[in-house]
Amino acid sequence: MDKIIGVLGLGKSGIAVSNLAVKLGYKVFASDNEEHKINGLDKKVVIELGKHSDKILNSKIIIKSPGISTNISILKKAVNRKIKVMSELAFSLKNSKYKKIIAVTGTNGKTTTTDLISKIIKYSRQNSIVVGNIGCPLASMALKTTKKTYIIMELSSYQLEDTCDFRPNVSVLLNITPDHLKRHKTMKAYIRAKENVFINQKKRDFLVINYDDKICRKIAIKSKAKVIFFSKQFLQNGIFCNNGKIVVKNGKKCMEISPKINIVGMHNMENILAAVATTYVIGIKLDIIEKIISEYEGMEHRIKFVRRLNGVDYYNDSKSTNIDSTKAAIESFNGNILLILGGRDKGMSYTPLKKLIKQKVKAVFLIGEAANKIKEDLLNLSIFFNSDTVENALNQISKVAVSGDIVLFSPACASFDQFNNFEERGEFFKKLVVKL
Ligand code: ADP
Repeated sequence: MDKIIGVLGLGKSGIAVSNLAVKLGYKVFASDNEEHKINGLDKKVVIELGKHSDKILNSKIIIKSPGISTNISILKKAVNRKIKVMSELAFSLKNSKYKKIIAVTGTNGKTTTTDLISKIIKYSRQNSIVVGNIGCPLASMALKTTKKTYIIMELSSYQLEDTCDFRPNVSVLLNITPDHLKRHKTMKAYIRAKENVFINQKKRDFLVINYDDKICRKIAIKSKAKVIFFSKQFLQNGIFCNNGKIVVKNGKKCMEISPKINIVGMHNMENILAAVATTYVIGIKLDIIEKIISEYEGMEHRIKFVRRLNGVDYYNDSKSTNIDSTKAAIESFNGNILLILGGRDKGMSYTPLKKLIKQKVKAVFLIGEAANKIKEDLLNLSIFFNSDTVENALNQISKVAVSGDIVLFSPACASFDQFNNFEERGEFFKKLVVKL
């Protein structure tokens, strides 16, 4: 039994951690309650599909995939039997070597910020790997790490919910706004999960955190690490914007950089500030940071320009899967927006979009399962088109759009009602736009 590891959930991270455990000499039993095709799993792993039977309770440790809630009955049984339940991240970290861990979280902006941090670190010739939501699971890289490796990780609230002794050298908390409430149930629980990114840090660690976000500013008090605030406005100490420049201020010491910024929107300025703070505190020179920001073009599916047709600009922001990211997208333009909204609802109210839609959006085109709820929440507001699908929305748009309009595909919902993921949804939108 000592050498048996149970893995719950055979998605990407479940497969990777099963393979890692086999390489480490464990016997692995993996269970997934869905019958689906498993690719890339080591043949030595014994699997069970379509259910979670009690067989997994023969393990000494159970490694749980982040998608699985801790409340499911098999995990309750495991806890009653004093079986240790760990996350993929915790198990993989135990089996990794590293120089420093940089962990990025927040409701929005994680991938962009992680990507920028990793590009700056790579350019400064440090050995690094990028794992978590943005790349591959740490489990598949753990055995390749050395004492010189920077492990840069993007972490979701699901991953953080499962950690209890996680201690990054630099934690980055970008913002906290309502998301994933179907899973976390309350805002309090969601915030608690996010706090796990810094709660075990010690004095010599750093917490890079958004001064402009009320929740972040409030919870920063709980940090034992050195808190580095970033802000779009002047700070006595920290990293902030001033007249288009980025200022790094530490007591009397004050330095500035003026990178060229190619990514749209003030929210991206926050991501850039967070990346500057993070790479600066680990000792990277500001001229390197400035150079890489100036070259940075952003990531696919995040407010990316697709094409101009008859004076109408089309933007793909398929990665927008919550209210706040759609708010950020609308805020990035002056007005005349034709907005495509909808998909799978995630349990949040759409009313926080009301004010901005009133100011800047000419018409809303509703797609997917959430259409009725959005319409109810935004009642009496704007012109609605019941589009149902992206194709219909684009057809309707082509009849009403005039030169100077912005077509913004920023759904504020998950994609799973009509697509496999946000990438597929974004690629589909782009393909249709190119054909118009
Ligand atoms: P995440 O990995 O946290 O989902 P991304 O960088 O992939 O973040 O961006 C996701 C969505 O959120 C995109 O639609 C993007 O335009 C928007 N976004 C990015 N950064 C921020 C931010 N700092 N605040 C609000 N929205 C943001």
